[in-house]
Amino acid sequence: MAQRDILEYPDPKLRLRSETVTRFDADLGQLVDDLLDTLYANSAIGLSAPQIGDLRQVLVIDLSDEGDAPQVYINPVIESKTAWGLVEESCLSVPGVVGNVVRATEVRVRAQDRDGQTFERDLQNMNAACLLHEMDHLDGKLFVDRLSFFRRLRIRASSKAKARRQSSAA
Ligand code: ZN
Repeated sequence: MAQRDILEYPDPKLRLRSETVTRFDADLGQLVDDLLDTLYANSAIGLSAPQIGDLRQVLVIDLSDEGDAPQVYINPVIESKTAWGLVEESCLSVPGVVGNVVRATEVRVRAQDRDGQTFERDLQNMNAACLLHEMDHLDGKLFVDRLSFFRRLRIRASSKAKARRQSSAA
């Protein structure tokens, strides 16, 4: 069990596609535990494996107030989307940015658990949006890709300025 460092935009590793999990072994269990430790250490509601540099299709979410209801999705596939809404999102990999994204707010997902058992689940509202945000990470996409062009330009400019400040300070 360990908290792991989170990759931040514009790290190119965040743009890679994750691979289907075929081995449901102790190493996968360790990844799931590390994801949950890192999720809770950051008081976040969702985290995907590529955000900690591991390119397997694994994500965790927990939207409970107490942080005691972890959901683990391995190799998730959306089977249906039946409602949409505007959702305010942020991301541990894009610190300081909040933006409104159109997401499906009613989905049926099929996935596997950490033992490889397949399950189906219906998710609504923030649960659905959070799952879709994390599934984007598995495809190498970030929520800022879904914001308007001018909003994206501003984010890119400010992250470059930040990188310059950090390199001139070093
Ligand atoms: Zn994210």
